[in-house]
Amino acid sequence: MTVYHNFTNGEWTESASEKTVRNINPANTNDIIGTIKLATREEARDAVESAYDAFRDWKNTPAPTRGKIVAKFARLLEDNKEELSKILTREEGKTLAESRGELQRSINVAEFCAGEARRLNGETIQSELPANFAYTIKEPHGVVAIITPWNFPVAIPVWKIAPALVAGNTIVFKPAEITPATAVRICELFEEAGIPKGVLNLILGSGSEVGDEIANHPAVKAISFTGSTEIGLKLYKQVAGRGAKVQCEMGGKNPVVVMEDADLDLAVESTVQGAFGSTGQRCTATSRAVVVDKIADEFVQKVVERAKKMRIGDGADEHTEMGPSVDEKQFKTVLKYIDIGREDGAEMLTGGKRAEADGLENGYFIEPTVFDKVTSEMRIAQEEIFGPVLSVIRVKGFDEAMIAANDSQYGLTSSIFTNDPNLIFRFVHEIETGMTHINSPTTGGEAHIPFGGVKLTGIGAREQGSTALDFYTEIKVVYVDYTGRKREGNLY
Ligand code: ADP
Repeated sequence: MTVYHNFTNGEWTESASEKTVRNINPANTNDIIGTIKLATREEARDAVESAYDAFRDWKNTPAPTRGKIVAKFARLLEDNKEELSKILTREEGKTLAESRGELQRSINVAEFCAGEARRLNGETIQSELPANFAYTIKEPHGVVAIITPWNFPVAIPVWKIAPALVAGNTIVFKPAEITPATAVRICELFEEAGIPKGVLNLILGSGSEVGDEIANHPAVKAISFTGSTEIGLKLYKQVAGRGAKVQCEMGGKNPVVVMEDADLDLAVESTVQGAFGSTGQRCTATSRAVVVDKIADEFVQKVVERAKKMRIGDGADEHTEMGPSVDEKQFKTVLKYIDIGREDGAEMLTGGKRAEADGLENGYFIEPTVFDKVTSEMRIAQEEIFGPVLSVIRVKGFDEAMIAANDSQYGLTSSIFTNDPNLIFRFVHEIETGMTHINSPTTGGEAHIPFGGVKLTGIGAREQGSTALDFYTEIKVVYVDYTGRKREGNLY
């Protein structure tokens, strides 16, 4: 049985901890993939110290040289794409097609970031004074902590690690407890790509001990976190309280608005993909369909028909369209929300229970579930479920649709289905989300385009795209006076 090791100061070492967590295949709980030992606080401190010691040399390594290592990593990720996709499916449960998509996104991000290493430019600025000018330099923070969830255990670490490295930071990476195998492979590939010792450190442990230790360590100057709103807000307070930088990407409750002139089949297929793809475990998943009354019956009937036909199963089977919930805790949370939806008076049209076909008995499978006649006050319309549950909210027209769509504490992504250009532009103007899609699902994103949300979804600079570098760098301003004499004027 594999016991996953930590990677500290360029060495793979087994934790001395007695506390363990098993890495279990959520499609078949008899398939135990490995064991992680939950690292101790002392081991977490060692990882931070290793990153601290490596910082000066890494900062002094030219950015294009840093970029070459990230480029090599991108190539290795490509060479190992199929192997990593299979590991990802086995430990997280998503379908192989989804895993391959996640791997491709990660390759794209790493390639893009490698290129950014040759563009880590500042600006030159005209001065008010003669024979003076100013310029800016982008500098790294020092040690950066990267704390990630289980739902995109390759892409999210890569979209944080790659820009952090290019910017010249050293890293302590703490992945979610239940997806260690992909985290280990990412670090092995960086090692193979030639990352100097101590520049990237992996520590496998619990959030409450290891996560807490690194978040509060004074040598950690910035923290990039993706996960729940509850933990994100807690971290934000703690870390901001000691003056370090924080970036949190948290929950979502993403709406799709469907207008009466929409291409209905396209809207239905996109909603189904957005709601049930990755078993609803994407932060960009579609969880609310806000539909105008005139077409609501037809829309709902088609969504239900499609949901009933979803092929549920082990993601490793190429025919599977939807895999299991990631673990027992998530499985129970989803079933609890289904009960809440019923109790709150929403009309459940399909799903609502464990999926029970042959071959599914040992996995955390839930039927795709559709609730109709949901109102914004209901908990299933407000709280993130992170499972295959869609809430349909019926509205009279566009104005009411916008009120419902924006009635959320979250603001990650959204979409609208209509062919009316006026409504499209009004929607873009009025919707309170960090990203929005026109006539396409709420999900998806590209490596070179910023990613992130507003309201309670996102705190701090946007991830991905060139904007990713903003979080991982500080700007130093340099004033140059080449008059060679005492300054006159401009004495402020
Ligand atoms: P999820 O619901 O996706 O598991 P969490 O917010 O619980 O989201 O976890 C996201 C990441 O944050 C995980 O790596 C987890 O171990 C870590 N984490 C949880 N609690 C803390 C904490 N108190 N301090 C730092 N990290 C934490």
